[in-house]
Amino acid sequence: MKKSVKEFKIAKKYIPGGVNSPVRSFNAVDSKPFFIKKSKGPFLYDIDNKKYIDYVGSWGALILGHCDSRILKSLSASMKIGITYGAPCQNEVLLAKKVCKIFPSIKKIRMVSSGTEATMSAIRLARGFTKRDKIIKFDGCYHGHGDSFLIKAGSGTSTFGVPNSLGVTSSTAKDTISLPYNDIDKVKRTIDQNKNKIACIIIEPIAGNMNFVRSEKLFLESLKELCTKNKIILIFDEVMTGFRVALGGAQSIYKIKPDLTTLGKVLGGGLPMAAFGGNAEIMENLTPNGGVYQAGTLSGNPLAMIAGLKTLDVVMREGFYENLHKQTGYLMQHLNAAASKHKLHFKTDYQGGMFGLFFNNAKEIRNFKQVEKSSQKIFISFFKYMLNEGVFFAPSLFEAGFISSSHTKKEFDHTVNAFKRFLKKNF
Ligand code: PLP
Repeated sequence: MKKSVKEFKIAKKYIPGGVNSPVRSFNAVDSKPFFIKKSKGPFLYDIDNKKYIDYVGSWGALILGHCDSRILKSLSASMKIGITYGAPCQNEVLLAKKVCKIFPSIKKIRMVSSGTEATMSAIRLARGFTKRDKIIKFDGCYHGHGDSFLIKAGSGTSTFGVPNSLGVTSSTAKDTISLPYNDIDKVKRTIDQNKNKIACIIIEPIAGNMNFVRSEKLFLESLKELCTKNKIILIFDEVMTGFRVALGGAQSIYKIKPDLTTLGKVLGGGLPMAAFGGNAEIMENLTPNGGVYQAGTLSGNPLAMIAGLKTLDVVMREGFYENLHKQTGYLMQHLNAAASKHKLHFKTDYQGGMFGLFFNNAKEIRNFKQVEKSSQKIFISFFKYMLNEGVFFAPSLFEAGFISSSHTKKEFDHTVNAFKRFLKKNF
């Protein structure tokens, strides 16, 4: 870590906290970040030449692993004919068509450059379409850093949210209501208390920003019913789960069609790109056709389009997700089996190439409050131990983990053996 420690010191001089996104600081695990020199397949290599098995995968973007040769080849060919045009190109249309085919709920789609842009634009569109101001979100879900999302539940009986970042105004907070995940009664009550005022409900149908928590099927179905009945736009934020838990995202697993969907991460094949789409009648309200303004200098840029198209070509092959799910299952089963030999409360859950690990004694984990009861102390010592063994899990107990199609049994066995040594040392 010598070189990384030195680099971090310099970074902190010029970049706030030394990082361009806060979770990278490793503050949540009481550690200092390593700086990456290169990456390949399931591996990261730091500037001190240490090799890591990567279960973060650029926060879920890299479903084929690092530097997949098919993506690199398309990118380098595409680069020779343009990096950005600021004008339409055919690959934007091809990608839009492909996503609409994969997601039956999406009839029209617009490309943007980050998940935050996608969710921000989706709620503006929902507000513009319904002519209502308030939105409902759920505690523990993350939808990027737009002001309207940086709101936590108010105290007591208050339905108003309060900002959880400085700089978010109280007038923004008053339009966001944050409710507990998987609690349909609270949603019903809130809709009744705010008749004709709620523009949309936004949810991660499988939440990956409070570790890994599934919506209950009945909860999601009731949410859909309530939205339809009350003319509220239902938005599934599938920035993380889209093309990750299944080709058609969590909505294909639950068989529920939201009005709008936000996508990102895997869709961009590792390039900065995201999208939002859905019901054509709603989408037509965007400029230039409608009155809801939305734009982007680099939106639909040709490099992101080709990386997205190539990624989809690969993940659409038969058996891709079955195999990914099996691979993740192999890792989870072996971690569970190792933990069960020790006196340790440990749980896992997974779907496709996304998983959660919990040091928690709850019978089942249904919401953020229960995730919060996980042992921070055990998680931090687990994270540090595994990192030292060359295994990189997300540096926060609130983050999900990811595997790519480039991970093999060899990496999983190395991970499980390191976990066994951790258990033996500590329990
Ligand atoms: N929505 C979800 C579900 C996410 O997980 C994230 C990022 O992790 C975002 C939105 C924001 O995406 P971005 O970081 O690209 O702005």
